[in-house]
Amino acid sequence: MTRALWFSVKVAVLVAIAWYLAEKQPGQVSLVWQGYRVDTSVGILLLAAGLVAVLVAILYRSWGGIKRTPGDIGRKLKANREKRGYRALTQGMVAVAAGEAVEAQRWARKADELLDAPPLTMLLSAQAAQLDGDDQAAKRYFTAMLERDETRFLGLRGLITQALRDGDEPAALEYARSAHTLKPNTPWVLETLFDLSEQAGDLEGAERAARDAAHGKLLPATEATRKHAVVLLERAYKSQRASDPAQTLKLVKQAHKAAPDLVPASVLLAELLVGSGRQGAAARMLEKAWAAAPHPALIAAYGPARPGKAGIEWLNQVGKLVAAAAKHPESLLALAEAALDAKLWGEARRHLGEAGEAGVTDRVCRLMARLEEAEHGDLDKAREWLMRAGEALPDPAWVCDSCGALAREWQPRCGACDAYDGLAWHTPPRVPLEAPVAGVVTQVSAEPAVLPAEPVEVLTNGEDAAPPAAGEAGPAPETAPAEPIPAPPVEEASKPEEARRATT
Ligand SMILES: [Zn+2]
Repeated sequence: MTRALWFSVKVAVLVAIAWYLAEKQPGQVSLVWQGYRVDTSVGILLLAAGLVAVLVAILYRSWGGIKRTPGDIGRKLKANREKRGYRALTQGMVAVAAGEAVEAQRWARKADELLDAPPLTMLLSAQAAQLDGDDQAAKRYFTAMLERDETRFLGLRGLITQALRDGDEPAALEYARSAHTLKPNTPWVLETLFDLSEQAGDLEGAERAARDAAHGKLLPATEATRKHAVVLLERAYKSQRASDPAQTLKLVKQAHKAAPDLVPASVLLAELLVGSGRQGAAARMLEKAWAAAPHPALIAAYGPARPGKAGIEWLNQVGKLVAAAAKHPESLLALAEAALDAKLWGEARRHLGEAGEAGVTDRVCRLMARLEEAEHGDLDKAREWLMRAGEALPDPAWVCDSCGALAREWQPRCGACDAYDGLAWHTPPRVPLEAPVAGVVTQVSAEPAVLPAEPVEVLTNGEDAAPPAAGEAGPAPETAPAEPIPAPPVEEASKPEEARRATT
């Protein structure tokens, strides 16, 4: 509009100048050209020249416009096509999110036709194929994505998922290794690489992945350190099987240092130290390990680290072992058991009473039964406690945090659900006895819950975990007057004086 107005003004000025020259400044001009002669005034000549210039300008502009038209139309068409393509892509992604396989595939085809953006359309096509259950097509798309630099990582991710879905772990591991080479600092790649390497028995590869994750702070610090420790322990077991004691010791030391609360590492380290004649070092290490994670297996390992100790001497040693966590239920039960072996009935009763305050468990009941029988020869009371044991709270056990299965021994993977480092030592939920998981046992079912015909003999012969009080044969001859122990909450009954009396 402004341009048109400006143009009109210019023409009007030109006409005005021509009129002025023609009317006010008369003068004649003659032109002779190719045998023609033109006589006119100066004004008219200028007007004609101006008009010719305007005409030429108009023609020139029109020609430029005509020349550009096909390009403009092409660009408009292309923009329109892209717009429709991206709309199809969006609709396809929405369909994938909604789980509509047919819709997703329809939009994927449309986006592929309309767009020149293979990374995006390939990914959508692959996802749509996966959704439709067409694994072969999905694999084809993901494999095609490996050809281009910008889509290679996406393709590898898709292929890893696809291989895991097909149960082809070796292929998944190869893809994970390639993905790790492309992007070494991607947390999910490191986690996948760790899991698959460990499963495939490539423990060194798994350890590298765990170490990279820890050093790069790519996983939460505690998680990365724990994984590193567990895989180091696995490597130690492997070296032990290969009869390489030096390497086993080196690896288990690293594992214990990384995770002092990893009980099986502490136990293996204690065995190796004792085996090489370093009982003192083993004992000191176990005392620290108890502070990190009190566990009955540590007491079993402590015996050989403090050889030749029995009775009160052994009780004192156990006192030293548990000193850093003296009020922990495991510590109280360890002390009670050692006191029973030392025939310090009052002391045993006191520790059992304190342990019972935290919860009357199966083990508390069985130790109480043993105490009643040993101290007073009261078989009825002992039987009563054994009856209670069946209904008491379960004792801590190795429980899988992923599936809840119980395991008798710690192992790197849960025997029921294969979760890595899933087993933790804590109180299990009550599990119905008739439904044990294959390869896994419930602690409660390991011993009869109902009193057998001759319970006391079974108990006194088989319950001792701590070294027996050698040299102090026979049941306690002199007993303090029997104190009534009410069945529910375990009470602190005996006094320390009685305990001393019982052994002197
Ligand atoms: Zn499990």
